[in-house]
Amino acid sequence: MTTMQPTILKLDISGLPVGWITWQTAAVLYSRERVRWEAGDTRFTFTGGVRGDGLRSSVSISSIIAVPDKSGRYMKRAPPPLTNRALFQRDGVCLYCGERYPASKLTMDHVIPKSRGGETSWTNAATACKPCNTAKNDRLLSETSMSLLAVPFVPDPAAYLLLIASGRRITACQQSWLESFAAKGKKLS
Ligand SMILES: [Zn+2]
Repeated sequence: MTTMQPTILKLDISGLPVGWITWQTAAVLYSRERVRWEAGDTRFTFTGGVRGDGLRSSVSISSIIAVPDKSGRYMKRAPPPLTNRALFQRDGVCLYCGERYPASKLTMDHVIPKSRGGETSWTNAATACKPCNTAKNDRLLSETSMSLLAVPFVPDPAAYLLLIASGRRITACQQSWLESFAAKGKKLS
């Protein structure tokens, strides 16, 4: 199975991005009449099995759907989960030497090392290539001649959904919806 399935962007009732869901999950939301409005300009139609009345069932799903849930992350202002994959997407390059590497050659560096009480958090994590991470070792930046090329930041939920969208089949309207929220988030902070 190499065909990439479309992914559906779920919003809360006010339009705040909640997360990516599969079309199967979206189909369940439609069947339970949980979808309050749609915003995507792309529709995906899936044909299922034969229903009891002999007709083929099919479901038409918008690429962006809103459900009457509050977006927990926005409400709690909880940071999105920090993973290597999302961190490497945030930074794009090693934040010490500026080189671009495949993920297999990258590491999560704790800017303030864990041994010095540094937390595993978005603002204390930097993408580092293995040589840079080894060179920095368990030292504070002030103890080295190294410096960060960018200040580590917490991505807002919309920016986070864009980070983890890499490799997914997303539509132009999903991308622009999230980009407009990500831009607003940056302006606020
Ligand atoms: Zn490096």
